[in-house]
Amino acid sequence: MAAGDGEPVLQSKSVCVVGGGMAGLAAARELRREGHAVTVMEQSSDVGGQWLYDPRTDVEDPLGAVAPVRVPSSIYSCLRLISPREAIGFSDFQFLPSQGAGRDPRRFPGHREMHCYLQDFCDAFGLMDAVRLNTRVLRVALAAMSTSKAKATHRWAVRSVRRLHGTDEYDDDAEEDEELFDAVVVATGHYAQPMLPSGIQGMGEWRRRQLHSHSYRTPEPFRGEAMVVVGGGDSGKDIALDLCHVAREVHLAASSEVATPAMLRMLANHGDVLRLHPRIRQLHADGRVEFADGSSVVADTVIYCTGYAYSFPFLDTGGAVTVGDNGYVVGPLFEHVFPPSLAPTLSFVGVPRKIPIPWFLEVQARWVAQVLSGRRELPPEEEMLRCVEENLCAREAAGVPRKLTHNIGGIEPHAIFEFGEKYCDIAPLEEWKKELMVSSVVSMMDDVETFRDLANDSENVHKGLQEWRLGAAALLKVKQNRPITTPVDTEGDGL
Ligand SMILES: Cc1cc2nc3c(=O)[nH]c(=O)nc-3n(C[C@H](O)[C@H](O)[C@H](O)COP(=O)(O)OP(=O)(O)OC[C@H]3O[C@@H](n4cnc5c(N)ncnc54)[C@H](O)[C@@H]3O)c2cc1C
Repeated sequence: MAAGDGEPVLQSKSVCVVGGGMAGLAAARELRREGHAVTVMEQSSDVGGQWLYDPRTDVEDPLGAVAPVRVPSSIYSCLRLISPREAIGFSDFQFLPSQGAGRDPRRFPGHREMHCYLQDFCDAFGLMDAVRLNTRVLRVALAAMSTSKAKATHRWAVRSVRRLHGTDEYDDDAEEDEELFDAVVVATGHYAQPMLPSGIQGMGEWRRRQLHSHSYRTPEPFRGEAMVVVGGGDSGKDIALDLCHVAREVHLAASSEVATPAMLRMLANHGDVLRLHPRIRQLHADGRVEFADGSSVVADTVIYCTGYAYSFPFLDTGGAVTVGDNGYVVGPLFEHVFPPSLAPTLSFVGVPRKIPIPWFLEVQARWVAQVLSGRRELPPEEEMLRCVEENLCAREAAGVPRKLTHNIGGIEPHAIFEFGEKYCDIAPLEEWKKELMVSSVVSMMDDVETFRDLANDSENVHKGLQEWRLGAAALLKVKQNRPITTPVDTEGDGL
């Protein structure tokens, strides 16, 4: 809801954004636009979050069982986007193909291209002077309460450690600091902390190699091996296919993946090495991996492509925000953003799953920025809490498992676009972009290996793309004439 009648007097806050990935950068841009003083703390040596590919892995903990993980990125070398670039740019900074050296102009580019795009975004909006790289947040906790006539406000103490130049680790020499901020935005993502399966007997005792996909980079270390890949999601399929080039055998164990068209095609194309199995029941000391149907294979390595858990090891809210349901749920969060008892000075950008990025992150970020400035108001605490509980109950009544609490796109796709209209003034995604995204998912379900290189656009998408390219050319001219330190307002015009 918009604040009061007439023009509100806007307040500028000092805001710490934890994390310099796509969500953190979206937050930084929106907060600045609204006049706040922003400090982004990012533990890596560059911005980009997951898209900052890191060839290293944590060799001491390849399952990523200990939080926080030492290597934040989970991206593997062969990764290409599953989302078409034309549909996933920032609303006023499109993901344009670039022909420059090292760039990848394809519709579904490799992961490096997304990283370049995020760097371009920072340059275009002058964000890097707000970003502190090599800075890991160790603790975020309530500092004190300042009580004005109107109402009590929280302040936050943020303790961070700065990695010194030339070192890879946050060791004893690293510099610790504690600062106070009016507000904190948590934008640390949810693709770093591995989620491990709980129902496999013998996992703890198995002496052969086990890792989570978080620690998978290239197929080469598994040359000639018999591999079991657990999980039939996007990463499970990608990694199984990647391994087919070098492994002796690849066994894909997928609890819910029946013989879908995509899976049948994969089996037909790689039937010499690839086999499909139900979920794993037990790992045996002699190297056998036993599946739920009683069959077994002898394996050298098991790779768990079983997803990621929410994890905020630095956050001390005294129990006001918790991670529950085995890492699947964080809350209570009003509309997945504000913990009612600590709102608006603590917020989360990027919690929902299955959302169009970065559009949805921009929407969340702008909402946070405008609530902090006083341009918009939140409902009272009790009402926000009631809303969270009602949503949970409605989902439970509809038979939606708790683990899908933050899955908006897969459960209530209409809610995604309502969110933008309800809470801030970002124009909805154009219809042709939505259509392009849906058609990409449909093609992927048919053939995961080729869908990225087939252009089968409808007339509507084709027209949208033409306008997008024209808009892109115009934008390029503007860019050549001046740096974009203030946004070019192209929202909603088909760009
Ligand atoms: C293998 C894989 C493939 C994917 N493919 C796609 C795809 O094709 N299309 C798509 O739309 N999405 C894809 N995603 C999802 C994609 O990662 C997200 O859409 C997006 O990157 C989320 O951005 P984020 O900023 O929320 O999180 P992240 O990118 O994870 O960024 C979080 C940042 O917070 C930092 N951080 C964490 N803790 C701290 C701390 N204590 N102190 C300081 N900094 C901290 C991290 O270092 C990181 O830089 C994929 C994810 C994975 C893992």
